[in-house]
Amino acid sequence: MDNNQMIAELQQLINPEHIFIDEYLKKHTYTKLGGKADFFVTPSNIEEVQEVIRFANKTNIPFTLLGNGSNVIVRDGGIRGIVLSLKRFLNVRREGNKVIAESGARIIDASRFALQESLTGLEFSCGIPGTVGGALYMNAGAYGGEVKDCLESALVVDSKGDILRVAAEDLNLEYRTSNIAKKGYIVIEATFALQIGKHEEIKAIMDDLTYKRESKQPLEYPSCGSVFKRPPGYFAGKLIQDSDLQGKGIGGAEVSTKHAGFIVNKNQATATDYISVIEMVQKTVKYKFNVNLEREVRILGEDEGVTDKKS
Ligand SMILES: Cc1cc2nc3c(=O)[nH]c(=O)nc-3n(C[C@H](O)[C@H](O)[C@H](O)COP(=O)(O)OP(=O)(O)OC[C@H]3O[C@@H](n4cnc5c(N)ncnc54)[C@H](O)[C@@H]3O)c2cc1C
Repeated sequence: MDNNQMIAELQQLINPEHIFIDEYLKKHTYTKLGGKADFFVTPSNIEEVQEVIRFANKTNIPFTLLGNGSNVIVRDGGIRGIVLSLKRFLNVRREGNKVIAESGARIIDASRFALQESLTGLEFSCGIPGTVGGALYMNAGAYGGEVKDCLESALVVDSKGDILRVAAEDLNLEYRTSNIAKKGYIVIEATFALQIGKHEEIKAIMDDLTYKRESKQPLEYPSCGSVFKRPPGYFAGKLIQDSDLQGKGIGGAEVSTKHAGFIVNKNQATATDYISVIEMVQKTVKYKFNVNLEREVRILGEDEGVTDKKS
């Protein structure tokens, strides 16, 4: 099927105004890196998501899910096929002591909604810049809390395009990982089981965490947060700091001088610069401390000039 046929078919399935051709993904990633998506589609409801999945299956077109792009690096050649964004799924509501948040809403907004409703349990997430869907995928966490602690279930579309409700225990939520990719689930909505708390106490915790985050993280530059997972028995940031890597860079990307675990896009970096800095850090820490730093961030897409799919 050629591109024109594909566009014509996609336009039958979802609002044509919600299909973007050759969309620069640097507009949709926190690092401000990434080439073009062939098709960037932003469905408005679950039926449209199902249709897109079935279409991708039928035509064998690869598809990739993007949340807020705060934990991914998209290579300079972009992503072939369909990139699906659930940015229109923004509703957050309360049912009893549960907060039910659609996957495109920011987890920060879910935590602010819980505060407004005096419900406690989501405070840890008040500064994590991802979507609810991305937070489940990564089992995002901070300051001693993580999604696993309060997630009850998720509504998902599976790889065949069917809708399922999955209990949190069946998502295998572990340190910055889950089985969502393996199962091919697209998270549509998350149900968080919270407890009634005191508004002032919830607010005090969130204010304290925000202060800690703003004083320690280089939020003035584009980045994807902590690049590496915590290696058992160590802290990635400390190993990088002790390797004298802060301020070292390649092209426009460098290891942050404020927080060694972050790599920042300081001056119009390319994804190639950014990935080269990651590799430099991994090699140096391995050489100095014999510790392997495993990436937390995901690298998607292909290098510039490459036409086959890699991810
Ligand atoms: C400044 C900064 C601070 C950060 N601090 C923290 C922190 O304290 N703790 C922490 O854990 N992380 C932190 N992060 C990383 C990041 O915010 C989290 O990992 C977040 O959960 C990623 O969500 P996202 O929507 O941006 O996902 P993306 O980066 O867009 O995607 C990440 C993965 O999730 C998948 N995905 C996204 N949406 C869905 C969906 N609806 N269904 C299925 N899969 C989906 C994508 O395919 C991709 O594989 C930080 C990042 C930055 C830039």
